[in-house]
Amino acid sequence: MLKAQETLLEIDLKALKHNVTYLKSITESTTKFMAVVKSYAYGNDAAEIAKFLETLDVDYFAVAYTYEGEQLRHAGVSTPVLVLHPQSVSFNLLIKHCLEPNLYSLKILNEFIATAETAGLTHYPVHLKFNTGLNRLGFSENDIPEILSILSRTEAIRVVSLFSHLGASEDLNEKEFTLNQIKAFKNCAEKLTPNLPYTPMLHMCNTSGIINYPEAHFDMVRSGIGMYGFGNSEEENRHFKPITTLKTVISQIHHIPAGQSVGYNRGHICDTPLITATLPLGHADGIGREYGNGKGFVAINGQKAPIVGNTCMDMIMVDITNIDCQEGDEVIVFGDFPTAEEFAATANTISYELLTGLSQRIKRSILR
Ligand SMILES: *Cc1c(COP(=O)(O)O)cnc(C)c1O
Repeated sequence: MLKAQETLLEIDLKALKHNVTYLKSITESTTKFMAVVKSYAYGNDAAEIAKFLETLDVDYFAVAYTYEGEQLRHAGVSTPVLVLHPQSVSFNLLIKHCLEPNLYSLKILNEFIATAETAGLTHYPVHLKFNTGLNRLGFSENDIPEILSILSRTEAIRVVSLFSHLGASEDLNEKEFTLNQIKAFKNCAEKLTPNLPYTPMLHMCNTSGIINYPEAHFDMVRSGIGMYGFGNSEEENRHFKPITTLKTVISQIHHIPAGQSVGYNRGHICDTPLITATLPLGHADGIGREYGNGKGFVAINGQKAPIVGNTCMDMIMVDITNIDCQEGDEVIVFGDFPTAEEFAATANTISYELLTGLSQRIKRSILR
């Protein structure tokens, strides 16, 4: 591991491999694995991560938007890619890069078929998503007769999978809700599949679903956060290794007398003398103002250094009054301690938001 001399996001591919191996070990050997690499692989580096995941034989990738899939193709990724939330304006680009759309409404289904027919395509792979309780994106069960009638009139597309998404798979107090979602999904699949001339795959589980609902693994599972090292509970976290460490360095140390203030708008007034370290990262890097004023902390030589005053665009100041350290020393923003989850919790958010909010300007360093 490098000692950071600037702000660096270290990405540990061995930890990624550990997490994927664990997730695969709790599914049947015949269950396919879809690696969710949307939003720069949760703030990491989608191209590096997808290329590495291809060597681990993942079956599918998922991204949110067509443009993200285009970037994977430009990086040389050849595995099938499901685009979870495409808009019709991007359909030609999607087809150009052999990306596979999630078709989630009658409108988007008809629009995709029109584009595919104009392009002269036959049996183009598509996926149909059903809303089973999240009430976000997807067909309802009532749409099934209309879907079947639309599908019977075209050769342009072929439905390779039916899927749905769990809304509370991490929350065992909501088990009944989740079991109802699973039942509703099975019901949709049973109404559709016998009326198609082929059998689409079924998939429903995200990371917490994979862990908590083995009965809902179906033909494929979809994991994002687990691959990157987090479950949705302490219990789940034991199985994962976080793949990301955000490191930075002490640019300058200030000895501030009582009565002075630190940062913009005099965010912190010193009642007593204070020693601060200024670090080269700020809200433009994804460490938002919510972390300021004593809420968030970083680790210097394993000790907690709370953020002093307001987070600036490109800098934060931290309290090192009781920490033995020098200019140039390494700082851990999150990694082993604090973990990304602990750091996120100080600003009332979750690891998903912290990780995906990290700016692309932070240098990525890949550990192989
Ligand atoms: C983001 C996403 C996932 C991945 O969820 P994790 O909780 O990160 O494993 C799976 N499926 C869909 C539809 C998603 O949007």
